[in-house]
Amino acid sequence: MNQEFWHEISTLAKAKNAELIAVSKTKSAAEIMELYNLGQRAFGENKVQELTEKQSRLPADIQWHLIGHLQTNKVKYAAPFVHMIHSVDSLKLLAEINKQAERNKRVIPCLLQMHIADEESKFGLDKLEAVELLQNRNLKNFPHVRIEGLMGMATNTNDEQKIRTEFTGLKAFFDELKNSFFVNNKAFKTLSMGMSSDYAIALECGSNMIRIGSLLFGNRT
Ligand SMILES: *Cc1c(COP(=O)(O)O)cnc(C)c1O
Repeated sequence: MNQEFWHEISTLAKAKNAELIAVSKTKSAAEIMELYNLGQRAFGENKVQELTEKQSRLPADIQWHLIGHLQTNKVKYAAPFVHMIHSVDSLKLLAEINKQAERNKRVIPCLLQMHIADEESKFGLDKLEAVELLQNRNLKNFPHVRIEGLMGMATNTNDEQKIRTEFTGLKAFFDELKNSFFVNNKAFKTLSMGMSSDYAIALECGSNMIRIGSLLFGNRT
């Protein structure tokens, strides 16, 4: 674990009013505790099973962010405790999150995952799909989910200009949605973009939540 980098990145995030999510997928409970003991509380996982196993073994005040693709049949396992779901990409998924959140007598903060990369493999909504989702009349029947913003992943490339264009586009779309769907709703405030390779660009482009794994924990095998 890179303690020096954690201090550096948390200071930078704080200065930019951004939240740092430590992405701990594939990493052990012991490795997570090293960061926890420095003061890190927000951790991100991409698989529900790994998330629930770690949650059951680690301190209760950890805020667990689910950042990976979520299948509807797995929602029930994360619903009792998950702090935020970054990967909402359909109304059907939102309906299931609402149902399971209600069962747990809570409201689950969610981000819409946007497809901004120039890659087939990444999940997420395009702009039209996001607008259609937000316009859907059924949304008002989901009081146990709160859409708090957007998440996106840039193309995995060394082309800094391309990454910048994608992040700038996502920030503009975030502002557009805020001004059309969330005018009197302060909850829509989170723009989750930036990982180890591109967090600096993301912060320059208006990110207020960065998800960092390998630079904190070392490369995943
Ligand atoms: C793994 C992952 C990250 C962190 O990636 P690093 O390159 O290790 O920082 C961020 N976001 C998502 C959605 C991920 O799956």
